[in-house]
Amino acid sequence: MNVLVTGGAGYIGSHAAQRLLADGHDVVVVDNLFRGHARAIDRLRERAKGGDRLGFERVDIGQTDEIERILRERRVDTIMHFAAWTYVGESVQKPLDYYHNNTAGSLSLVRACERSWRNAHGGVRRFVFSSTAATYGEPPADRVPIREDCPQSPINPYGASKLMVERFLRDAVAAATRAGEPFAAACLRYFNVAGADQTGIIGEDHDPETHLIPIAIQAAMGRRPGMTIFGQDYPTPDGTCVRDYVHVEDLADAHVTVMSRMQPGECVAYNLGIGRGYSVREVIAAVERVTGKSIPVTMGERRPGDPPVLFADPSTIRRDLGWAASWTDLEKIIATAWQWMRQNPEGYKS
Ligand code: UDP
Repeated sequence: MNVLVTGGAGYIGSHAAQRLLADGHDVVVVDNLFRGHARAIDRLRERAKGGDRLGFERVDIGQTDEIERILRERRVDTIMHFAAWTYVGESVQKPLDYYHNNTAGSLSLVRACERSWRNAHGGVRRFVFSSTAATYGEPPADRVPIREDCPQSPINPYGASKLMVERFLRDAVAAATRAGEPFAAACLRYFNVAGADQTGIIGEDHDPETHLIPIAIQAAMGRRPGMTIFGQDYPTPDGTCVRDYVHVEDLADAHVTVMSRMQPGECVAYNLGIGRGYSVREVIAAVERVTGKSIPVTMGERRPGDPPVLFADPSTIRRDLGWAASWTDLEKIIATAWQWMRQNPEGYKS
């Protein structure tokens, strides 16, 4: 297939691009490099299997005309849409940036898909959207583990900015179907993504880094003096938040599985998680075991926008498509992140 990967210079998008190339697909990455890394693209081109089939366009997803040109020139039939702002805390501070980049940006992209249907090659037929467990908000305890039919009621602008995209994708697919266009969409609701590609080419490199596992590893490496646990009075067994950590390679695998099975007229939603939650304290203890170092920890206030418990019931995608996470051991997941960070202590600047 000819796949356009938005945000392909970022963490999850680059892993998906790597997997698509390895599977023999043609890939064009579209990334404005605001938070993505040109070096991730260079490394994929130079070192990844099929890297010679990787195209790159430094374009913002909001540039509808440019996207339309790329869809036409590259005869794109599938979009995997990862480009987004993804920090819950930041979304509380800057909600309009989140609605602008995530919601309006995605709308522009879907608009370009619509226009691509006029193209000789038929245009975009499949749209795979990076959604998030943050769309569920703070589910009642009896709805955890979370199934796809759990009410979606986000408690932060990040989750809301993504939920709106799910909503208009459904409407866009329905309208396309009525108009006789074979268009399909999939909303993949990620839980917490972790780890790095095992070949060591690419990995997680955020600036600023806000995610628990890389922060804990940086603290273990002495690259920061210590770390803070955000809240210890949550209604959870040890008082800290519980999350479901899924390996980034499993996530890439889920994307190609979904892409290969999408049927025209469908707008499906799947939870992507391992189906078990770990508390912040459990994650920190696991990082200490993997790295063999102790981590200086301070107790801090709750971070605004954090729900206490989020973990998936991933049985729908298993039932429909036979997909399940193959990485289910937290320490093994963390070990891949540790390997990447040891080999690239400054991330892509290393
Ligand atoms: N967290 C923490 N200290 C940190 C970073 C994260 O206690 O320095 C907590 C955070 O409050 C959340 C969990 O770790 O409960 C996972 O946060 P992360 O930012 O990795 O992912 P999110 O769940 O926000 O997508």
